[in-house]
Amino acid sequence: MLEPARHADVVVVGAGVAGLTAAKELIRAGVTTVVLEAAPYVGGRMSTEKVDGFRLDRVGQLLSTAYPELRLTPGLEGLVLRPFSPGVLVHSEGRHHRAGEPGITRRARGALRAARALASAPRGAYGVRGTGRFGAPGAGPVGGPIDQARLGAALARLGETPVERLLARPESPAGQALRSRGLPARTVDGFLRPLLAALLCDPDLTTSSRCADLALHAFARGRLCLPEGGAEAIPELLAAGLPPGTLRTGVRATAVSTTSVATAEHGELRCRAVLLATDARSAAELLPGLRVPDFHPVTVLHHTTDEPPLTEPALLLDADRSGPVAHTAVVSTVDPTRAPAGRILVSSTVLGPPPPALDKEVRTHLAALYGTSTANWDLLSVHHTPEAVPAMRPPHDLRRPVRVLSGLYVCGDHRDTSTVQGALHSGRRAARALLTDLGAGAGAVRRSGGLRPAA
Ligand SMILES: Cc1cc2nc3c(=O)[nH]c(=O)nc-3n(C[C@H](O)[C@H](O)[C@H](O)COP(=O)(O)OP(=O)(O)OC[C@H]3O[C@@H](n4cnc5c(N)ncnc54)[C@H](O)[C@@H]3O)c2cc1C
Repeated sequence: MLEPARHADVVVVGAGVAGLTAAKELIRAGVTTVVLEAAPYVGGRMSTEKVDGFRLDRVGQLLSTAYPELRLTPGLEGLVLRPFSPGVLVHSEGRHHRAGEPGITRRARGALRAARALASAPRGAYGVRGTGRFGAPGAGPVGGPIDQARLGAALARLGETPVERLLARPESPAGQALRSRGLPARTVDGFLRPLLAALLCDPDLTTSSRCADLALHAFARGRLCLPEGGAEAIPELLAAGLPPGTLRTGVRATAVSTTSVATAEHGELRCRAVLLATDARSAAELLPGLRVPDFHPVTVLHHTTDEPPLTEPALLLDADRSGPVAHTAVVSTVDPTRAPAGRILVSSTVLGPPPPALDKEVRTHLAALYGTSTANWDLLSVHHTPEAVPAMRPPHDLRRPVRVLSGLYVCGDHRDTSTVQGALHSGRRAARALLTDLGAGAGAVRRSGGLRPAA
């Protein structure tokens, strides 16, 4: 039970990664903090279900080793990231094609010169690298060597461009902006569209081109990866460092003000400042002035089978959009801790509203993508999240205000970019704004006997 007379300096509402990061910053500054979480566990959308020794994520999590917050956030020093093989595998017309490898990116200029010299060679002699599985290499979805080299050079340029310059570019829907980047339509449709759809959870690419550029910037600078042990590894690492008694799970906030939080289970908790760290819709229910964005629905299916349908730890995208699956991977090959020894875990993500016969259609599609029968695969679980990811349509403010009033603050992926990187960053921004208002050099706060909200 909460003690009714106990006053924390700050009450954080919501123990997703944004709220946990903010709580950590506040506590490091010497501010007593309580985190209220409605669910019986921490992590919010980054939860991991355990079924028969498998660790199954609700999110079709794609992180990048280049996300700055994964390095900067205190508490995540012990995070182990399991990388996918470089670039991605693109499935098109019955074949797998590798694209977007950083090695190719670095050598792009040389390759472009070489490819031009070879352009007069007989057609098909220098096709895109295809994997052996479905036959000999062919021209593939991203074209021949010149197209590949152009793509590599474009990714290299993007990776080298400072973020501030990317954010100063004109903004339009990503799908529209892709057409104006001087790349051939086949490169756009065969690689960039499926890649961005996967990274942004947005199959129609209505997202702001600036957010798309940031996603490609991270792709070009790092490796796609999964957190070892499941998505929950990140919130659990953050929660592990909090002092005992900070976290109160199973407590739902029903009203907030600058100095109190009412809860369904434990009455009112008084404090000196409140930080709302819930999802966008819950935040707007507690603070009706806040905007509720549109959301992208996402469904993640986990199957198990006896033999890995692909032996390398690759992210496989469907360039042909020939079924509901946007991307899939043999996750137990990327991160063996997610499956019991000797078992295979295949995780697949469906973007947008799922079809009525979901498992049947997904199996049929996976059979085509992996080139093997999926009839005997066992379905372990399906996670459908209708409000998975806040839409980031243009104009999108990447730094939405986190200070509502002196004493009332808000963070979460809906204040930043709709990613783990954005959620972590918003938590640190909100904690800093709160500490500034409270004049909190922590030691000074303690010595002066408490926090004083700014006028
Ligand atoms: C299916 C799916 C796929 C995704 N794929 C990716 C991806 O590939 N890459 C990527 O970077 N990101 C991805 N994301 C997004 C990423 O997971 C989120 O951006 C991030 O987890 C948001 O964290 P948060 O702390 O802002 O919010 P949340 O995780 O939503 O945390 C908010 C917390 O507040 C709690 N809460 C709500 N109301 C109350 C209340 N009244 N009282 C107390 N507690 C309350 C909730 O229970 C929850 O725990 C995906 C998300 C989903 C769902």
